[in-house]
Amino acid sequence: MKRPFNFSAGPAAIPEEVLQQAADEMLNWGGSGMGVMEMSHRGKEFISIYERAEADLRTLLAVPAHFHILFMQGGGLAENAIVPLNLSKGGTVDFVVTGSWSQKSFKEAGKYARQHLAASGEASGFTSVPDAASWQLSQDAAYVHLCSNETIHGVEFQQLPDLQALGCDAPLVIDFSSNVASRPLDWRRVGLAFGGAQKNIGPAGLTIVIVRDDLLGQALDICPSAFNYKTVADNQSMFNTPPTWGIYMAGLTFQWLLRQTEGDLHGVDAMEARNRAKAELFYQYLDNSQLYLNKVDAAYRSRMNIPFFLRDENRNDAFLAGAKAAGLLQLKGHKSVGGMRASLYNAMPLAGVQALVAYMQEFERTSA
Ligand SMILES: *Cc1c(COP(=O)(O)O)cnc(C)c1O
Repeated sequence: MKRPFNFSAGPAAIPEEVLQQAADEMLNWGGSGMGVMEMSHRGKEFISIYERAEADLRTLLAVPAHFHILFMQGGGLAENAIVPLNLSKGGTVDFVVTGSWSQKSFKEAGKYARQHLAASGEASGFTSVPDAASWQLSQDAAYVHLCSNETIHGVEFQQLPDLQALGCDAPLVIDFSSNVASRPLDWRRVGLAFGGAQKNIGPAGLTIVIVRDDLLGQALDICPSAFNYKTVADNQSMFNTPPTWGIYMAGLTFQWLLRQTEGDLHGVDAMEARNRAKAELFYQYLDNSQLYLNKVDAAYRSRMNIPFFLRDENRNDAFLAGAKAAGLLQLKGHKSVGGMRASLYNAMPLAGVQALVAYMQEFERTSA
């Protein structure tokens, strides 16, 4: 069976090799006579899966030794509460709002801290980001939050801001749910990164938190124990039962990512080269077309999630029906933005983008 290309924004495509390995091991992992879902999280089999997943993620993202990697639950949205519960000390937290996800983070934090809007891209309809030099950062912020890739609006930071150079000593918190492992990350600029797994890493249900050690141990008293980063860290993510299946699947994906090469590049560097090539191909086509259009400022265009519009919106249903018939799935845009959206996560091969462009060219030609 030839599988269709799945452009879903999340839960999203998983590398076929990963799915195949999981299928092969479903009933009997490593000769244990058990499937992974049936294992005790405290047994030696699962502990070995967990330890390898953590070590591979550390290698893959070049996470320094003074950061903890936590495997949690609750998704990106729960982190919008868990981060201020752990890091705000009930004081002021700064937000750079660049789309729906950081806007949600901003709203939720208000339950636990004083939120301060340091900058917002709303005036541009979230098609651009105010220059970092213009951000109104607080003197006393406990941290500064931003979303490194806005999944719905298709706005991505091509590099993270250097807060210290902006005169701000607060740690940077990033929501990297939808671009984790798609490109290298400069940990010198990050205090904490969090993300749900279901965009670029594996199945829904696992949340990854990578936190600098000095930020542990300052949670508010009302913070639930299972969401207290220090408690989770002190218990190797096993204070309560972790999402074992999600950790296993993420681990297989990390192994797959570590195996990827592009020329001399390996792992995340190889993925970045591939993701750049995929996005360039797609944006170039959109920009040269008479029918399609992307509205995002070129400096902030996401490599992962590309919203686009048909200039003739009456053709939307025909476009989607034709795409589905051509084996190109889940291209409908988010309801808040409309139009279409193609998500080009790590698991989407260049061939998928080429097939999408070929279909769009043909659709444009025949609907002229
Ligand atoms: C999908 C997404 C979320 C929400 O994740 P949940 O797992 O649904 O809580 C948060 N932030 C970003 C950037 C996302 O793409």
